[in-house]
Amino acid sequence: MNVRKFCTLVFSVFLSGTAFAQEFKSGMEWSEPPIVTPGATDDQPPSDAIVLFDGQDMSAWEGSDWQVADGVVSASKGDVTTKQAFGDIQLHIEWSAPTEVRGNGQGRGNSGVFLMNRYEVQVLDSFDNETYFDGQAASVYKQTPPMVNAVRKPGEWNTYDLFWTAPTFNVSGDVATPACVTLVHNGVLVLNHFELYGPTNYLGPAQYAVHEAKAPIRLQDHGNPVRFRNIWVRELQSPVGARTSAPYVIKGGKNIPFRQAEQEQADGQLKRAIQQAVDKAVKKAVEQALKDNQKKPPRQEPEAPGDSKTDGSAVPLESGDEANTKDVK
Ligand code: MG
Repeated sequence: MNVRKFCTLVFSVFLSGTAFAQEFKSGMEWSEPPIVTPGATDDQPPSDAIVLFDGQDMSAWEGSDWQVADGVVSASKGDVTTKQAFGDIQLHIEWSAPTEVRGNGQGRGNSGVFLMNRYEVQVLDSFDNETYFDGQAASVYKQTPPMVNAVRKPGEWNTYDLFWTAPTFNVSGDVATPACVTLVHNGVLVLNHFELYGPTNYLGPAQYAVHEAKAPIRLQDHGNPVRFRNIWVRELQSPVGARTSAPYVIKGGKNIPFRQAEQEQADGQLKRAIQQAVDKAVKKAVEQALKDNQKKPPRQEPEAPGDSKTDGSAVPLESGDEANTKDVK
């Protein structure tokens, strides 16, 4: 066995006796997540996606007559909206500002992706094009700029991978949870769970007003022939689960409420700490006693009666002693 294998074995044994001696359980019972087959590449629709435009036709859209040619569609003659309404979604969409640069600021390559028909993530030719920052490409229009400008040159294709959480409203019509958007632009995170202040307006501050739980996606015609391709959307469902018990740990084959196990662990730590302190104090006392004992002078033993003198000379007998000696004979 080489050193690495030996160390791995020792570490495994260590863990099995400590950290993994008990297992935490949340007390939640989860349904198995549905299986989704990803696209051949990450820009292709997964198996549960709804394809909104695959380069063939605009049958999923209504509101205007955008022309399809060579697998792309160009904005013209007004906005288009999806026939289907959506709430929480993941949206993939690719767009390209006109190759021939015309205009400037908000007048150059302007379009927009309106979530729920009222919240705009801006589409704009923001390549070397000065405008207000909360109106450039990938901004939430007049609410926040993107964190960075990741736009490609005019005529090149941009991708938006957008993650949208619809707002919710309470019974009084006030917003309960705001809409949130996360946006990856050409592989770059540019909006990170931004909470919207309300619908995006050109004039006036954003302010929520109660609306339906699902609404169409709208693409803006701002008078510039912005092109689109490869549009698909996934409706998002949160994982399904239910709490079946309070959190607990499995220890020694038994389910123990987490708080109880936590208290037992704390008690055990306290006991070990006390025992260690006691052991340490006892050891110290014993060591000190031994040292003190070594410092003491040798003990003087009293001489026993009748013992010989230390110089070896005989001790004369008393008169009575002689008679006693005779008796012994
Ligand atoms: Mg726009």
